[in-house]
Amino acid sequence: MSLTLHLDTAAWRDHLSSVASRTPGLVPVAKGNGYGFGLPRLAREATRLGVATLAVGVADEVATVRDDWSGDIVVLTPWASHDPVATELLDDPGVISTVGRLDDLRTIVREHPGARVVVEVRTSMQRFGLEPAELPRVADLLRELTFEGWTIHLPMVGPTLDEARRLATSALAVATGPVWLSHLSPRDYDTLNGELGVETRLRLGTKLWLGAPQTRRVTATVLDLHPVSRGDKVGYWQHRVLTDGWVVVVSGGTANGVAMTAPSAGATLRQRAQAVILGGVDATGRALSPYTLAGRKRFFVEPPHMQSSLVFLPGAGAVAIGDEVPVETRLTTVMVDRIIDSSDRPDSSDRPDSSDRPDSSNRPDQQTPEENR
Ligand SMILES: *Cc1c(COP(=O)(O)O)cnc(C)c1O
Repeated sequence: MSLTLHLDTAAWRDHLSSVASRTPGLVPVAKGNGYGFGLPRLAREATRLGVATLAVGVADEVATVRDDWSGDIVVLTPWASHDPVATELLDDPGVISTVGRLDDLRTIVREHPGARVVVEVRTSMQRFGLEPAELPRVADLLRELTFEGWTIHLPMVGPTLDEARRLATSALAVATGPVWLSHLSPRDYDTLNGELGVETRLRLGTKLWLGAPQTRRVTATVLDLHPVSRGDKVGYWQHRVLTDGWVVVVSGGTANGVAMTAPSAGATLRQRAQAVILGGVDATGRALSPYTLAGRKRFFVEPPHMQSSLVFLPGAGAVAIGDEVPVETRLTTVMVDRIIDSSDRPDSSDRPDSSDRPDSSNRPDQQTPEENR
């Protein structure tokens, strides 16, 4: 047992349903580590929401969601000739492929006529997509394919509504079809939806799955603890502890994505000095851990191990073996070992991953950092 995600499934589903009901054209995105929940679970939730299309990140992920999803699947990473899985999916009637280069569009027309495609238009992100100047050259090619629309992937900041409007308008002048968008605020999405005169779709990952942070918390378990005195050497790297206290062994390590964050470059000398006084172990190697013990985040003794981490608790010690302690995580970079339903409400639907109900009282005030994409 290492990291546990306690999920108030009923409250989380309320949140998912409310996002879905105010987002016509919602396309849930299930990719990577499944935003901490795993791809199959997200596919099941998308099924519950009753949406038409599920997005996955890469071609290989299609197989992972297939058992739990029977609608259309759009693959977000543009097709490439060097990817045999993506190539096979061009002939799959349930899959919509993204195309991001003019040459690729020509290849697909030649080798997989009729394939279902969305064409990506390059935005200021400069990730994938045809340049707006290339768009007029796709009109003829689209007639040989099943054109499912234009896709526009916007940055998180900046005048995204203007950019989306400008790119969508040039694209629609070439061929009419649905416009698939991401990273627009609900208001901007509504605005564009009203203006464009075509069907619009909004892809949501983080805001959908990881909204409503109060519905979940992640905990680790105290595996062991040992009293140490000032000057004792501890850990693989035999750092000396600077004060009396406890070395606490907590579950979760590099295999779970528990990472040591280096002291920020911006930390002032005073902050660094304070960190040492507050129980930092080594003035150069110390780093604040994501584990909260006895009410506050504690320093790592040394970098996390594969499946456990050593954390220093100064003073008399106020934790016990078996305690569940809060861990601050970005669920997009963490692998939890189990998900436990902590709903207070009875729910008769199937819950394949739930086990017994943990005590959800005494819930720590957990800060949720901005999630990573
Ligand atoms: C990942 C991704 C999304 C979803 O991003 P979030 O920030 O998690 O909502 C949408 N569109 C594309 C093309 C993506 O790659």
